[in-house]
Amino acid sequence: MSEFKINRIIRKNVKGLKPYSSARDEYISDGTQMVFLDANENPFDNGVNRYPDPQQRSLKVVLAQQKGVSADNLLLGNGSDEVLDLIFRAFCEPYKDNIITMPPTYGMYKVLSGINAVENREVLLTKGFELDVDGILQIVDANSKVLFICSPNNPTGNNFDEKSITKLLNEFSGLVVIDEAYIDFAANESWLKRLGEFPNLIITQTLSKAYGMAGIRLGLCFASKEIIAVLNKIKPPYNVNQLTQERALSQILKSDLIKLEIVEILEQKSALLKVLSEIDFIERIYPSDANFVLVKVDNANRRYRQLLDRGLVVRNRTNQPLCENTLRFTIGTKSENLKLISALKELV
Ligand SMILES: *Cc1c(COP(=O)(O)O)cnc(C)c1O
Repeated sequence: MSEFKINRIIRKNVKGLKPYSSARDEYISDGTQMVFLDANENPFDNGVNRYPDPQQRSLKVVLAQQKGVSADNLLLGNGSDEVLDLIFRAFCEPYKDNIITMPPTYGMYKVLSGINAVENREVLLTKGFELDVDGILQIVDANSKVLFICSPNNPTGNNFDEKSITKLLNEFSGLVVIDEAYIDFAANESWLKRLGEFPNLIITQTLSKAYGMAGIRLGLCFASKEIIAVLNKIKPPYNVNQLTQERALSQILKSDLIKLEIVEILEQKSALLKVLSEIDFIERIYPSDANFVLVKVDNANRRYRQLLDRGLVVRNRTNQPLCENTLRFTIGTKSENLKLISALKELV
């Protein structure tokens, strides 16, 4: 397979594009007190009357340091969903290019392929929920631009082995996106440590799961400076609002608290797993590296409704490929998990 060249995969219109230059891009404060009469804002200070920093510099400094990357390897978005959409719009030509996904997996890749009119080629995971590396490499053609690998995978919960992913990174000449939304719960390390090795690697993470900030919408994208520069050209100038930048910064500085919460969630997961194995209509519990577990039950639709009747909302995944009669349980607080357990026991 041919070597990765960024110029081969950028969309033609994006190559020639000059980004919109906002007022806050043109003048960058060096700390001097200035009078801002450039952006038609209301001058009366209420904390949010000014446009936010389009490059989120203060937030990126801390994130880059915590993640051990340089700030120009990092792009922030309105959730990882925006980051994923930017990847489509920067690299995939509508009605011509294709992406490759491996169901059962996160549903947004397919939704975004539909929105962007980009063919989604699906290669199912194996029955053991592993990557079918040969199947993936066989389906690739010259218009295959992006491969989406979700690891740990949603909804199955497992992460994929390093060897399979390394082979795909080496042999696929498009971009490989590793979606690490659940990496903070996993025993294995993030691919961030190997970012420099692969010019075609993009890693996405989010503040929505382990960091406890789904409500503020902040997604993280790590890649080579060249890839980040392309994405920066097409992102909306003020895609991460002021309140999000402020709350994200104060939360990520509480790294000890976040670590404690992760430990607590993982302890709760072990406790829940023990009880689940004693419920007789649960036929299978799939290994999980995330903050949720996928289980196979006798009749997912029926069990889902019975749990709803008892005030518990879980995710019914029975219509996903390879997931017949499965339910996905997010790990809650101790008292929430006890409610799930007592409801499940009632159903036996
Ligand atoms: C929850 C989740 C996300 C998070 O998306 P945000 O837009 O950042 O909230 C991303 N990828 C996967 C696989 C997820 O499950």
